Amino acid sequence: MTDQDTNNTPKKVEAEYVKPPSFFKMAMNFSKDLATYIKNGAPNVSTEDYIARLDTCQGCEFLIEEKKRCGACGCLIEHKAKWRTAGCPKQKWAVQDVSDLDIKKVEQNEDDRRTKNEQTGE
Ligand code: SF4
Repeated sequence: MTDQDTNNTPKKVEAEYVKPPSFFKMAMNFSKDLATYIKNGAPNVSTEDYIARLDTCQGCEFLIEEKKRCGACGCLIEHKAKWRTAGCPKQKWAVQDVSDLDIKKVEQNEDDRRTKNEQTGE
């Protein structure tokens, strides 16, 4: 929603208070998104897509500005917007296709990382 300021230029009017989901619901939403993200090898969007997603959130009536949290799902947008496997709960930006990812290679890299950590004691 926009309004006019004294210079007759549009300005963003503070959105009505957006009541976020309950803590339990936010935790469930975040856990589900995180599990999908990890299961697919933690794929991130490109920098350009990340910026575009954040720009969309910035202009969204559901954004809880002071907490940088989506008022629809409760997720922190800086994380959610980065994940290819996450989508906007109001369909303002979509989940990205991850079928191009080689999951076997991702799993092998994860196994290699674990082995290395065990060897170095990390
Ligand atoms: S994720 Fe979607 S609904 Fe939530 S703040 Fe961003 S654009 Fe709005």
